[in-house]
Amino acid sequence: MQYRELARVYEKIEATTKRLEMRSILVDLLRPLKGRELTCALYLSQGSLRPEYEGIELGVADSLARKAIAEATHTSIEAVGERTRTTGDLGTTAGELLGGTRRLEESTPLDLLEVYDQLTRIARATGPGSQEVKVRILVDLLRRATPLEGKYLVRFVMGTLRVGVREMTILDALAAAFAPEEKEARARIETAFNLTSDLGMIAARLADGGLAGLGSIRLEVGRPIRPMLAERAKSLDELLARMGGTAALEYKYDGLRVQAHLAKDGSVRLFSRRLEEIGPQFPDLAKALPMAIRERPAILEGECVPVDPKTGVIRPFQDVATRRGRKHDLERALEAVPVVLFAFDVLLVGSDSVYERPFPERRAILQKLVKPHERIRVAEERVVTSLEDANDYFEEVVGAGAEGIMAKSLAEGSRYHPGARGFWWIKYKRDYVTHLADSIDGVVVGAFYGRGRRAGAYGALLLAVYRPERDRFETFCKVGSGFDDAALAELPKRLEPFRVDHAPPDVDTGLSPDQWFRPAVVLEVKGAELTVSPVHRAGVGTVRPDAGLALRFPRFTGRYRTDKSATDATTTAELVEMYRKQDRGGSRRAAGERRVRHKA
Ligand code: AMP
Repeated sequence: MQYRELARVYEKIEATTKRLEMRSILVDLLRPLKGRELTCALYLSQGSLRPEYEGIELGVADSLARKAIAEATHTSIEAVGERTRTTGDLGTTAGELLGGTRRLEESTPLDLLEVYDQLTRIARATGPGSQEVKVRILVDLLRRATPLEGKYLVRFVMGTLRVGVREMTILDALAAAFAPEEKEARARIETAFNLTSDLGMIAARLADGGLAGLGSIRLEVGRPIRPMLAERAKSLDELLARMGGTAALEYKYDGLRVQAHLAKDGSVRLFSRRLEEIGPQFPDLAKALPMAIRERPAILEGECVPVDPKTGVIRPFQDVATRRGRKHDLERALEAVPVVLFAFDVLLVGSDSVYERPFPERRAILQKLVKPHERIRVAEERVVTSLEDANDYFEEVVGAGAEGIMAKSLAEGSRYHPGARGFWWIKYKRDYVTHLADSIDGVVVGAFYGRGRRAGAYGALLLAVYRPERDRFETFCKVGSGFDDAALAELPKRLEPFRVDHAPPDVDTGLSPDQWFRPAVVLEVKGAELTVSPVHRAGVGTVRPDAGLALRFPRFTGRYRTDKSATDATTTAELVEMYRKQDRGGSRRAAGERRVRHKA
């Protein structure tokens, strides 16, 4: 195939904005081709030389292109610059200048593969003298180019060829070109693309063996899989309902998604969510992975987050962003901003493509695969089966500083779905939670021992409001969020004087804390909204005969009200009033109970 045919394709595609028209132009281009010619034509039509994830750049700067155009068209560099001020683009300038130049009659037309190979040489030229090499190759190509070819060659090498064909259009074109009769073709081709991220390879297989040619496509180490994506839910009950009542909730770490590929020989490649190779920015991970991963080859996914070098505590995402694109300061960044990879999925282990197995199986494999390491850990997770547990875990996670949770379906079909966004994964972030404007002064009546990081200390407190008419303390929340390590550490001492063995007679709750306290200590909490609850007793009998009010997503503000005694705490009546006020903000029904969002 001659390169000029491709140049005409560029021209036609550029002239249309209609997806259908683009598709038929591509079908005409690709259908007659096969093998290497097909693969190369496809990459070139996308403005690249290789699949996008390889990130190959030709590295031809403006000045270099001017020089080559001037030389090929016997003009001065100044004249090229002058003309470009009017044309606005060096490609157009090259085309115009070539149009006014008499080309050697005997020059052979440019062959597509020949152009592809020369462009590859341009991309590969590095180091001293490489600029000269790039100019030479470009000059030789331009000397033999027609004006149209010249225009697109220059744009191609400069990376300004904006033909605007999206991957989805190419997938349409491949189905229409190579499997026009088959109903499933489009979906199967897309699946193959999601697994391989390589359109050229897929095209060649289709041309060779039709859809059946895709059957043998497997995950391959070094070739990124398009990442599975999450849907979102408006509330935890919606989330749980979508998951069928049970789900694995994981920390949603706020960092950089990393797909790690470990080859048999221990070499590591890391890809970002956009499938860019980011290994060079994370030599520390590349070094740690072979030590932490028990079997090779392997492909796993995780979130890479910056941690404080002294305390190991997770730092804001921005800190890891400073690693991106930073070459000179990398050494310093490695020390100042160490990272931890929290692995959350596994796609391949040994010869086993485990991505098709349900999530619980993958999680079990992941846990066995990862030998915890300073830099590599498995994402924290808890399986929940009730809204109550989901609430608790969400609070705990947000309290520990995470941006929210990622819920993972445990159902039969919970395989890894490459490139797809669906309700198999649902994200729920703390920003989705609106906040009650008023704070509440609650009395501590009990405590629960912590789990995970908080094991061995109190992890959450049971709080009550005061009901003067009955002289009782009625509970309204269990709060674990908002306590930093120091606040947690001093809790036992602060509460010790009020510790009692049995539930105090003046406390009313449906919960059994690990430790009871005489009502004395008052602290301030804020939360999202007040809801009716079967386990809390605040205002029982006022809103509902058999249920009290509960504060969702309570959070300690950091303020102890030492100025208040237990009976000065927020009263039940005040809480009921807050609940009724938020009722006017509009209501919704969920999970059989009346839920109201507060409008501040
Ligand atoms: P978002 O970027 O808000 O659409 O959220 C999805 C992203 O959350 C994923 O692409 C991951 O980068 C990130 N993430 C953090 N923690 C997890 C986790 N435990 N499981 C899956 N994705 C996670």
